[in-house]
Amino acid sequence: LGTKTVPFKCFGKVKEMETQEGILQKTLIDFHGIDEKLIQKMVYDALVWCSLHGLVVGDKSVQRSGKVPGVGLVHAPFALLPMAFPKSHWNLACEVAPIFNELIDRVSLDGKFLQEALSRTKKVDAFTSGLLDIHSKMLEINKKEEIRLGLHRSDYMLDEKTKLLLQVELNTISSSFAGLSCRVSELHRESCATEFTVVKSNIGTRRPEAGFPTLSIHPHPSSDFELHYSFPAYDICVLQSSKSNDAVLCRHLSLLNYYGEHIGLDPRRIPGNASVDKFAEALAKAWTEYNRPRALVMVVVQPEERNMYDQHWLCAELKDRYPFNLLSSLSCLCNTHNVTTIRKTLAEIDEEGEILPDGTLLVGGQEISVVYFRAGYAPTDYPSEAEWRARLLMEQSSAVKCPSISYQIAGTKKIQQELAKPNMLERFLDNKEEIAKLRKCFAGLWSLEDSDIIKKAIERPELFVMKPQREGGGNNIYDDDVRTNLVRLQKEGTQEDAAYILMQRIFPAVSLTFLVREGICHKDHAVSELGVYGAYLRNKEKVIVNEQCGYLMRTKVSSSNEGGVAAGFAVLDSIYLS
Ligand code: ADP
Ligand code: MG
Ligand code: MG
Repeated sequence: LGTKTVPFKCFGKVKEMETQEGILQKTLIDFHGIDEKLIQKMVYDALVWCSLHGLVVGDKSVQRSGKVPGVGLVHAPFALLPMAFPKSHWNLACEVAPIFNELIDRVSLDGKFLQEALSRTKKVDAFTSGLLDIHSKMLEINKKEEIRLGLHRSDYMLDEKTKLLLQVELNTISSSFAGLSCRVSELHRESCATEFTVVKSNIGTRRPEAGFPTLSIHPHPSSDFELHYSFPAYDICVLQSSKSNDAVLCRHLSLLNYYGEHIGLDPRRIPGNASVDKFAEALAKAWTEYNRPRALVMVVVQPEERNMYDQHWLCAELKDRYPFNLLSSLSCLCNTHNVTTIRKTLAEIDEEGEILPDGTLLVGGQEISVVYFRAGYAPTDYPSEAEWRARLLMEQSSAVKCPSISYQIAGTKKIQQELAKPNMLERFLDNKEEIAKLRKCFAGLWSLEDSDIIKKAIERPELFVMKPQREGGGNNIYDDDVRTNLVRLQKEGTQEDAAYILMQRIFPAVSLTFLVREGICHKDHAVSELGVYGAYLRNKEKVIVNEQCGYLMRTKVSSSNEGGVAAGFAVLDSIYLS
């Protein structure tokens, strides 16, 4: 096959530059200049794409949409185009992911530290107290978790003034959107697809049609039966050489060709996002470590869950890789996990669960090897004693918990604040360079026992965020409410202040974005929060997995304080490295 470079069509005021290879590359888009008709077409095509590729959530206007899969689906809110993000900060966020994983593991082992740090909070916060009670019970019986699995997401905002990448929080329970965020990266990569050049191929005589993105195919050096496909828009995949490869390839090409015209972004600058593959792989490896072939992975779910498709993606990936995206479809030829999952609520686990004398967890008579929590992080998940009993039962069992009670507690905001104190990281980590890297990501964090900071926060409340020990979005206090609450707490003089921490408010840069929600595209000023997933798995002294696992970019209108997608504040996005 020869080499063919297809000329570029371009809309709007896009800055152009000529690269050494003579291929046109685009830098950042001037949103004001983009042709309105093109936007409408892109929105339409993106909505079709979401529907065909499972980038969906339950529609809140349909009553059964949180209970019955396939009923009342709507596309997940998304940004039409990726958000610019500096490469150096992206690299830093990836580099610190395994260090944070290790930190959480070390902190989780220090039961005394966790209990003491939260001892005041325990008195005023019934939910935290419930978690700590289970934790104490485990300490009393000297419960050891030999196989420990963490599926975390460390969230950051890039502070515009200081240009520092500052950690908002680190989620150790129910880190959501690994299933959907990788789809958004695919959507963006495909809508940004540029040109297509076949450099070399030994899979046949098929000629690329004009207008496809760049594709290079390298024969695998060590085998006649393997090829390395290297796509600019994708990482390298290994596959077997057979007729089916051609079929996979053709299908992908038709996706890339969604846009005959394009807006001229370079898809290579959107980092690959294998979040769902990586999380599934870590869960599968935990299942393997547990080493009971008939055992299941149990997903602990809320009775109603409109974000169920995010979870189902992970379960589908665990069972069988779905050939919907290129990476998965190619690797499925070599590799399936074949791990079965069941979904249970805490109330169901209370009814159906039991522990055998050897510690085996049975639910409905089925052995559970890994408990994966997508519920149990909020007080509303525990409406009665039954749910707390279920949580305790699972914790007492020998099943792998993702997360264990100590991992969950290690991820609370109070512990985040404690770890930001001087010399605290040194207590848990050895490597000085790594410690320095983590510390650089810490924003100002204070306990409400610090009277100087209370005074400052009352004077300038807009510079702080007041946070309770809660997860899931919508719980924080901002602006004038910070002052009102601090003054009230001071007056009351109770211990209620121990329920909160104070955090430096981060101010990310504002930029114009197209946000698509319920089929409607809004152009608005927006800010973004980058989450980097991390998986950690160890069995006794052996660390089996410790890696960065893709990312979640969330973009919200700049006038909104909170940033949750499920909570209705933000849209799913991806990043465009600048
Ligand atoms: P949750 O566990 O409920 O997600 P977060 O700490 O992530 O709690 O806070 C929720 C949202 O509030 C974040 O996604 C972000 O949009 C906003 N937020 C949190 N902390 C800060 C901060 N220090 N500065 C600016 N915004 C913040
Ligand atoms: Mg959180
Ligand atoms: Mg958060």
